[in-house]
Amino acid sequence: MTPPHTAPRVTPQQAWDTFAAGNDRFVAGASAHPNQNVERRSELVNTQTPDVALFGCSDSRLAAEIIFDCGLGDLFIARNMGHVVAESITASMEYAVTELGASLIVVLAHDSCGAVAAAIDQSSRTPSETTASVQNTLAPIQPAVQQLWLRNNTDTPYADASKIDANAVGRIHLAATVNELLRTSRAISDAVDAGKLAVVGCQYRLTEGRAVPYTVVGPVELELAPLD
Ligand SMILES: [Zn+2]
Repeated sequence: MTPPHTAPRVTPQQAWDTFAAGNDRFVAGASAHPNQNVERRSELVNTQTPDVALFGCSDSRLAAEIIFDCGLGDLFIARNMGHVVAESITASMEYAVTELGASLIVVLAHDSCGAVAAAIDQSSRTPSETTASVQNTLAPIQPAVQQLWLRNNTDTPYADASKIDANAVGRIHLAATVNELLRTSRAISDAVDAGKLAVVGCQYRLTEGRAVPYTVVGPVELELAPLD
């Protein structure tokens, strides 16, 4: 296995508990806005020690330091539309774990995701025109559309947006994203295998501001919502 260059400072459980507590404060309207002052900024000039790496959808409503009530140096973040794993994403998460000592990776999906809606549209009989780069980025979401559509419909392979639960598609894609991150990274998988890292998949609920965990790999005790 690849030994981590920087040992984790906290256990995955400690990292999760701190992270989840920040979201609890945000949900309750009791944000403390920690680590956002001049002292913290100065402290971090020559170093960073984030315990959590986050890979989420780019959606403007998922502003991570706000919804998890943390600040400078707390989260190492990579985001793209529909949280689609790419080499740069895998590399960013690996870097956070092996070089920065993060002990938790959070994959952050959300309800009412435009990328999921667009992937459903691309899976329909008459997909909207889009650019090649958008089409290629949405393609890894389409198996989740197909999986849910064909579970409930046998008359046509073309998905119908009015007859499919987009948030359920999002959760299938969330679980697939976690799997894909593990599949594409031996370094991440080894760290999980060694008990030094956990990967948690959450779907954020826009209305209440809560990141609900649906999937976990690694040593964290937490209450999971059912994926289906
Ligand atoms: Zn989204």
